[in-house]
Amino acid sequence: MKIEKMLKKYRVESGKHFRLRDFDPADTHGLHSEEKDEAKKLLADGVERLSKLQDVLAAQDLWGLLVIFQAMDAAGKDGTIKHVMSGVNPQGVEVTSFKVPTAEELNHGYLWRTNQRAPARGRIGIFNRSYYEEVLVVRVHSAVLANEKLPKKLVTKDIWEERYEDISNFERYVTRNGIAVVKFFLHVSKDEQKRRFMARLDTPEKNWKFSTSDLKERAFWDDYQRAYEEAIRATATEYAPWYVVPADHKWFTRLVVAQVLVNELKALKLEYPKVSGEQKKALAEARAKLEKK
Ligand code: AMP
Ligand code: MG
Repeated sequence: MKIEKMLKKYRVESGKHFRLRDFDPADTHGLHSEEKDEAKKLLADGVERLSKLQDVLAAQDLWGLLVIFQAMDAAGKDGTIKHVMSGVNPQGVEVTSFKVPTAEELNHGYLWRTNQRAPARGRIGIFNRSYYEEVLVVRVHSAVLANEKLPKKLVTKDIWEERYEDISNFERYVTRNGIAVVKFFLHVSKDEQKRRFMARLDTPEKNWKFSTSDLKERAFWDDYQRAYEEAIRATATEYAPWYVVPADHKWFTRLVVAQVLVNELKALKLEYPKVSGEQKKALAEARAKLEKK
């Protein structure tokens, strides 16, 4: 299977012609469930290469990677993060889940809380939800916007355009400082979401995952799809691309995400720090001393 071709298919780096309906949530790029072995191999291969690349990322301590996950409920954000990052050194990764903002967070501009969690050089920072909620849930529910303590005169019909612009500028800024940005929209269908909610209700071990608010949000499905489409259209750039990943088959979602991350890290052309002649001499001296003892 040609991985490059597959990744290109899901990559959105210009919003001009982007339409969500051109992307099939059930797509598996020709891989069938009978070929799950191949899928497993692709995931395992991705996880292994990711682990190796992360080692270089940390050693070089020059670049960083910000990974954003956005999706409807039950699209598989948590499971994807768990499986894709399973081979990575926990010391080099930080995962932050962004929930309904606290009173303190609402006293700041919305980039304040995410900025504090943006990854440092040498590290991978994962946002499970992000500032994109500010043009998604906040856009779908006017009451959430009303709760944001914004001066009235600043809340105009242009607010979403303004937010897209600020978000893109933020992403440009961090990329210009050496932190690469990649954004995933896990694209699940409404039918599959229903199946997964049902499983959460039917399986005692999954009950905790179900929240009645999930059902409330499901009623706004079309509004969310529209909000996602517009947000992706407005913020897909070459420096901070979106990947619209089919999410009706978990095994496929995971392998795509793993391969995308490998690809993004590879593009940074990471290298272990080079040891200078002087350092080599110091190492040789250390070795000589150790051998004597
Ligand atoms: P979960 O990810 O299932 O734990 O749910 C977190 C909830 O927090 C979701 O319903 C999000 O829509 C909500 N949330 C996250 N960020 C914001 C935000 N900036 N404003 C309002 N709600 C948010
Ligand atoms: Mg939830």
